Amino acid sequence: MLEISNIDTYYGKAQALWDVSLSVDEGEIVALVGSNGAGKTTLLKTLSGVLRPASGTVTFLGQRIDGLAPHSIVEMGISHIPEGRRLFTQMSVGENLEMGAYVHAAWKRREETLDQVHEIFPVLKERQGQLASTLSGGEQQMVAMGRGLMSRPRLCLFDEPSYGLAPMLVTEIFRVIQDLRNQGMTVLLVEQNVRQSLEIADRACVLENGRIALAGECEALLEEELVKKAYLGL
Ligand code: ATP
Repeated sequence: MLEISNIDTYYGKAQALWDVSLSVDEGEIVALVGSNGAGKTTLLKTLSGVLRPASGTVTFLGQRIDGLAPHSIVEMGISHIPEGRRLFTQMSVGENLEMGAYVHAAWKRREETLDQVHEIFPVLKERQGQLASTLSGGEQQMVAMGRGLMSRPRLCLFDEPSYGLAPMLVTEIFRVIQDLRNQGMTVLLVEQNVRQSLEIADRACVLENGRIALAGECEALLEEELVKKAYLGL
């Protein structure tokens, strides 16, 4: 579904990604792990068109998407749920969700999609008139994920969805991601919560200093010395 080939991405003159290649098949969860500053967010921004790669290609469903504007990439079926939620804090929960549906095809089906989002996160229905700024961290994460789903994506790019949440909510967020996959969603998941992400993902990639250091099936990666020492504290 998604094929990333030999991507180099820069911030001005500073290079952040070197020769990154990675593929995601339809229906998979692929976890992207790595320490702070490894380049995980940079890779997601390169996929969603916020950053343009200096070289390399990104192909989604057979079409080149590197160089396209972010809104065109959303139209094609990729939703980026950013790190830190980035909600419109002075808008209500309902309005935040509606903002996610400003995609041609999704707008027409927004009522139906909203019902689906409320089914996944019932608390968002109860809170629909409340300002996003007044929600708890966990509820804000649910709004961010719900807003991302309102564009009816085929591929979700989740950037640290469990960040800063209490353990019970972390488990809930991971459960939702698994449920989405079981309903046919494809997921590229950036997480610092390495053990839990490797437990729900099919494959994973370790990014170090802007380069892919390791990639493979999660079961095998959980046995790798680098993963055990650097990310699992073993
Ligand atoms: P974290 O887990 O802390 O979010 P990350 O793996 O997502 O880390 P990135 O945010 O992608 O890492 O950062 C990769 C590199 O790019 C780092 O060296 C970082 O300092 C640099 N970088 C990130 N954003 C910018 C920016 N806006 N301008 C310049 N350099 C940046």
